[in-house]
Amino acid sequence: MPSLDAFARAKLADLDGRGLSRALAPTRRLAGPWVERGGRRLLSFSCNDYLGLTHHPAVIEAAVKAARDFGAGAGASRLVTGDHPLMAELEERLAALKGTQDACVFASGYAANIGTIPTLAGPGDLVVVDALAHACIWAGAQLSGAQVAAFAHNDMDSLRSVLAARRAAAGVCLIVTEGVFSMDGDLAPLLALSRLAEAYDAWLMTDDAHAVGVLADGRGSSAHFPQAKVDLQMGTLSKALASQGGYVCGSRAVIDLLKSRARSFVYSTGLAPSAAGAAIAAIDLMTADPALAAAPLQRARRFTRAANLPEASSAIVPVVMGDPGTALNAQARLEDEGFLVVAIRPPTVPVGTSRLRLTFTAGQPEEAIDQIAREVRKLAN
Ligand SMILES: *Cc1c(COP(=O)(O)O)cnc(C)c1O
Repeated sequence: MPSLDAFARAKLADLDGRGLSRALAPTRRLAGPWVERGGRRLLSFSCNDYLGLTHHPAVIEAAVKAARDFGAGAGASRLVTGDHPLMAELEERLAALKGTQDACVFASGYAANIGTIPTLAGPGDLVVVDALAHACIWAGAQLSGAQVAAFAHNDMDSLRSVLAARRAAAGVCLIVTEGVFSMDGDLAPLLALSRLAEAYDAWLMTDDAHAVGVLADGRGSSAHFPQAKVDLQMGTLSKALASQGGYVCGSRAVIDLLKSRARSFVYSTGLAPSAAGAAIAAIDLMTADPALAAAPLQRARRFTRAANLPEASSAIVPVVMGDPGTALNAQARLEDEGFLVVAIRPPTVPVGTSRLRLTFTAGQPEEAIDQIAREVRKLAN
């Protein structure tokens, strides 16, 4: 057996050889969509701060006030002494935003998915997941011990054939997808999904990490497809809601069950008061101003028109380049022009689809969007 250090060095050398090693780049996020990296000020098209609220004075003030009132940390898990007074307020806001009876806040979106799915499905059950769903949905499905099956991305024929082949032999069945896909920016066809769920006696769960703040005045994918019946809506506080933490919205009984049984809830410290305070303030700002939540999609569509790409349906626009090196070169060329667009490579996206992933956020100047569209058109030539 090699030493642990030699083992790690060999693994890193292999990743390096395939253009897949990753390194942190210290980045200072400034007010608005600007960042400072490597001594340069760049306009970011890689932040998920869709509404630009991470630096909003009212959101920062709410975080500071929450820390003053309730401390810098929660001090324990929620079920012990970590359920500070802002948690109930935050869960009430989230349930109201999503139109559900109740909500459960976790330490992160990742924790929400890996806690929720195993609480609802186990050995003998079936979890069916869109092939392009986020890594933490897959992690939750694997952790559940249920049978796990993929259906081709947004392909209802593929989902139907998985359900036809495997549903009958399983106990409960959970279908999981994303409201807005994080690396492709397309929407899940929720009405068709909910009809299939009903036909095959399955529950439907959405991950709305990139839909909240962007679709339907910020309320997300279920509000965008009001006829769809979605049993559980998961999401994160860390994107449009400008803070940190994850949540699941559903019926009161489902939420009570999660609070008793979801392991990443029960055995993890409660969200810091400052994070809860900031998220509450962000929800309040977003719901008070529908024009704010319209801004990311408006900007994305301005970009896709100018770059001659298919019309954006969310704040995320992928420009697929193919191999990792091409995507990294494109990132470097845009950085020379003053734009930060981080290349996304496998395993975050399938092999052969390394890409630039642009996110559009409320504060980006329109002239800059026209300019980056010209640069992206040049990359294609
Ligand atoms: C970001 C993201 C998560 C994880 O949320 P965090 O709060 O950052 O842990 C989960 N699902 C999707 C689709 C995401 O994009």
